Amino acid sequence: MPMSSPFGCSRREDDDMYSVRVSLPRVYRLRPETKEVGMRPNREQMLMEVAHVVARRGTCSRLQVGAVVSRNGRILVTGYNGAPAGMPHCKHPDDQEPCHEAVHAEENCIAYAARYGISLEGGEMDTTDSPCYLCSRLIINAGIRKVRYQRLYRVTEGLKLLSAAGVEHWQFAGMFPA
Ligand SMILES: [Zn+2]
Ligand SMILES: [Zn+2]
Repeated sequence: MPMSSPFGCSRREDDDMYSVRVSLPRVYRLRPETKEVGMRPNREQMLMEVAHVVARRGTCSRLQVGAVVSRNGRILVTGYNGAPAGMPHCKHPDDQEPCHEAVHAEENCIAYAARYGISLEGGEMDTTDSPCYLCSRLIINAGIRKVRYQRLYRVTEGLKLLSAAGVEHWQFAGMFPA
């Protein structure tokens, strides 16, 4: 059974196409029958949820990744992975080779910030997948101070680099409270 949008804005018939695969638990939803708000997601849960929504825009056929950079819980930029703007979407029929075409979600956050003059200094990044080494280099030099990720990428060189540079990072486990 498809999960409905945690934002309560999707029509029933849209659920299959647009539902958020990783959705907030039912306790966080408004309950219109009783007019109760119920529990609210905390900021970290909200930001990770947004990262997962953004990931749905990803155009690489290997993996959809989303990232959000925020400061004080307010979103500054978002990004998802895909070929550079204007280029054809990448395709990986055999699914074996690593993707060399897609700009990573984290890179796109930083590129967008540069394009529109948004400082990420002191920001926090929420990303669906732990950053690779190249993205971690950019995260450090963009002044981002904290990184939360949900899925651990098999190569952890990026996380080691973040640690060495003093950027806090941890695996987010708050999406599915027991
Ligand atoms: Zn790709
Ligand atoms: Zn990367």
